Amino acid sequence: MNKTRTRIHVPIGQEEKAEKLGAIYDGRMKSYVVPQHMPIILFQEFIPLPIELVPASNWENNVRSEFKEEWRDIRRVCYRKAGYRCEKCGGVGEDHPVECHEEWSYDDQKGIQKLERLIALCPLCHKSQHYGYAVISGLEQEVRKHILKQNRWKKEDLDKYLEEVFLVFEHRSRREWKLDLEALQDYR
Ligand SMILES: [Zn+2]
Repeated sequence: MNKTRTRIHVPIGQEEKAEKLGAIYDGRMKSYVVPQHMPIILFQEFIPLPIELVPASNWENNVRSEFKEEWRDIRRVCYRKAGYRCEKCGGVGEDHPVECHEEWSYDDQKGIQKLERLIALCPLCHKSQHYGYAVISGLEQEVRKHILKQNRWKKEDLDKYLEEVFLVFEHRSRREWKLDLEALQDYR
């Protein structure tokens, strides 16, 4: 029997929420894990470095395109809030310390793509989040290595997760999405 269990990070106080979703504590791994029969993507919020693919149908619409002039200032607030360090791995880039990444949530019923917040990411974490783009840019091996390290995963975990991520991406790319940018108020 395949006993692959995927490690997730459950912050203190969030144990009950994770368990309700189906996570179990693995004493041997000293960590909460996703049971083998469950999709890893259900535990997105508990993955240290998750991959979030924006639906292809909405690639033209983003904060940058909506707020052309203000984007530079918005970004600066985002960097400053994070202390110019990556909010995922704590690292910084060589050429520039961090980049600004849009974190979205999706209401699949209503077709709303909602901006949750902006986060500062080092270039490598940022490339990992835009996995599809990293692949076409020839950076797949580099980002794979980074994701495995950040999530303390085995290759099998990442392969299973990627399959799920791309399935959801294909599904969401079949429709139009309305943007909800209310969260930007915190950055102006
Ligand atoms: Zn990083």
